[in-house]
Amino acid sequence: MSFNPSLTARLRIGFLVLFALLLIVSLLGVGRLFQIRVDYENDISRYFQLEFQSERLRSGFILEQAAARPATAHQRPSQAELNQAAASFSAAVGEARRLTGDDTVLTSELNRLVVSEAAWRKAVGGPLIDLQVPPAKVEARVTRAVTRSADALATDTRSARDSARDKARTDTRNTTILVAAGLGGALLAALILFSGLINSMRAPLGRLVEGARRLAGGDLRTRVEVGGPVEIASLGRAFNEMANSLERDARERDRVEQMKDDFVLTVSHELRTPVTVVKGFAEMLTAQRKGLNASQFEAAEVISESAGQLQKMINDLLDLARSDAGKLRIEPQPTPVRPLAQRIGRQMRPNFEGKDQRFTVSVEKDLPEIDADAGRIGQVLANLLMNANKYAPEGAQVTLAATRGGDEVEFTVSDNGPGLDEDQLEHVFDRFWRADSTETQAVGGTGLGLAIAKSLVELHGGAITANSSEGEGATFRFVLPIAKDGRLERNAPARRTKAGAAG
Ligand code: ADP
Repeated sequence: MSFNPSLTARLRIGFLVLFALLLIVSLLGVGRLFQIRVDYENDISRYFQLEFQSERLRSGFILEQAAARPATAHQRPSQAELNQAAASFSAAVGEARRLTGDDTVLTSELNRLVVSEAAWRKAVGGPLIDLQVPPAKVEARVTRAVTRSADALATDTRSARDSARDKARTDTRNTTILVAAGLGGALLAALILFSGLINSMRAPLGRLVEGARRLAGGDLRTRVEVGGPVEIASLGRAFNEMANSLERDARERDRVEQMKDDFVLTVSHELRTPVTVVKGFAEMLTAQRKGLNASQFEAAEVISESAGQLQKMINDLLDLARSDAGKLRIEPQPTPVRPLAQRIGRQMRPNFEGKDQRFTVSVEKDLPEIDADAGRIGQVLANLLMNANKYAPEGAQVTLAATRGGDEVEFTVSDNGPGLDEDQLEHVFDRFWRADSTETQAVGGTGLGLAIAKSLVELHGGAITANSSEGEGATFRFVLPIAKDGRLERNAPARRTKAGAAG
């Protein structure tokens, strides 16, 4: 199992390591400084004592000289006094030897002093006690040797003290520098540790943010690599579980949608034939008016009309189901706009006349051909015009216009009927949506016409929009691409005509 501590554990470990590092460096530094101070004080006191002992050696030797050669003529050299002075000298030597320790320079100075004092006693002190005066030259040489050795010992002790002080200073400075460097290093290590900690969180967090963004953008296959501290790793796992469940739900939804589409497609398809038969026979009956009495004729007319509505509804449903299944096919080809507009205008004319509405068709001159399936675009135009006819009141004005806009031709169907408010406009292209206004409720409809119109226009690579201010009529606009190798319509300039007779 890999070691992956939690965020809090990581912080604790980080602080603990930092604290331990600082403590160790501080303790080592303070301990070392204390040791230097203690060593320095010991050395200084040792050297002061050694200086004192070297003074004792000097005075011991002076007493030895005084015992061997008294100051006044009536005094005799005294063996006892010489012994006493020599004993005091030896005691000082013992003490000095303890104090020189392992300092080789001082030890050899001390040894030289001891040797020269012994030589003095042998060559000068002893003969003088026996009243034999040694040659002045010999006496002067051995006496000078003792004095020089004593001086050298004192001088070396002083210089040893000075070097002990210098050494303490240097050691203190070096230790201070080392401690400062150690503290700096510990802080640097802490910095690296914490930035490592932050980095260990940053990468997985970044992946999570990116994953959430992609998931929100609709990419349900998004998964994140689980990693980082325990808390962030759990967050990553939870994210992946959520994405799994979202993907599962989406798949299930797609499956149900697919089933529904298939069902609608099959049912609409199967209904089409019997309805066409019913409509055909009803029309046949109405055509044989003479053979029917009045109520039979009326019934046949109602059957024919209802079968017509049913047929339209089934066709609409079939179109939508095909569009959803990607099976709604169009056959676009270069199509002249004017004849198309005229044809639809002619077909719709009776409806407008029936409601005493003024209907004008206006087609810009020299319009290029559009890349369209004439049947399907005719269906879209008929739908929009039928809506204008249905929802605008008697005597209203309805216009169908076609103009050029860049690489596209724009079709506009407008009326001065009741129009739609902002909320209604938002839903106007939704399936099965119908406004709950009195105008809408007063006429029949399924709420499918505009949804189909939108699908068909988009299938052509165009776009459809609706504009309206409530009470000021509605305007539906859609654009279609100009056919690449289409011709220009070089016929008579556009005229405004009544009821679809656009010239
Ligand atoms: P249907 O006409 O069968 O109800 P549509 O999809 O063609 O279905 O239209 C949806 C709804 O949009 C209509 O029910 C109506 O409320 C509103 N609508 C469409 N065209 C117009 C228009 N020209 N003026 C006012 N309302 C309209």
